[in-house]
Amino acid sequence: MVMRISVKDLKKEIGLRERFELQKDLPPLELKGEVIKFLKPVRVSLEVINAGDYLDASGTITTEVELTCGRCLEAYRYPLKVDFNEHYYPVEGESETADIKDEEGVPFTGESVDIEPEVKSNIQLSIPMRQICSEECRGLCSQCGTNLNKERCSCKIDDIDPRMAVLKDLFQKD
Ligand SMILES: [Zn+2]
Ligand SMILES: [Zn+2]
Repeated sequence: MVMRISVKDLKKEIGLRERFELQKDLPPLELKGEVIKFLKPVRVSLEVINAGDYLDASGTITTEVELTCGRCLEAYRYPLKVDFNEHYYPVEGESETADIKDEEGVPFTGESVDIEPEVKSNIQLSIPMRQICSEECRGLCSQCGTNLNKERCSCKIDDIDPRMAVLKDLFQKD
C-alpha cells in the first residue's frame, strides 16, 4: 500500500485544484541509527493545484511518534504537525532528462503520484534533535540512576561536594 493520489482529472486543465485526505500506518522510521515508532496513522491533508508545468501540492501532515527523552531515558509521545509543500513534475516515458527548472521538484509519470517518500522526509526533518519529555524533566540521579520524575532517592543526603565536606568537618569540631 502506498500514499498515492490520482491526478488524472487535475492534469486536464491548468488552474484546476483538488483536495486529498490520505491516511496510512507507516512502519518505523530510521533516523541517525534511532528507530522512531508511529503511535498513530500518518494523516495527510493536501490541496493540489495544476500550475501548468507542475502540480503544486501543499498541506499538512499530522501524526504522533514515540521519542526517547535524553534526560530520563523514558519513551514519550510527541505529536507532529508538519507542513507539506512539493512540486510534482509530469515526465513522459523517455523524456525524464527533460530539463526541470525547479530543483526542488519531484518528477512523476502517469496518472497518479506517490507522495509517501516526501511525506517521510518531511516527518524526518521535523523530529527534534534535542528530545526532552518535558522542560521540567529532572532526569536520572547520577549516582543511583533513579528516575527523579517518579521518585526520590536518598543520594542527595550523601551527595555533598568534597569542598563542602571539609567545611562540615570544621564546624563539627567546634
Ligand atoms: Zn525526561
Ligand atoms: Zn540516587
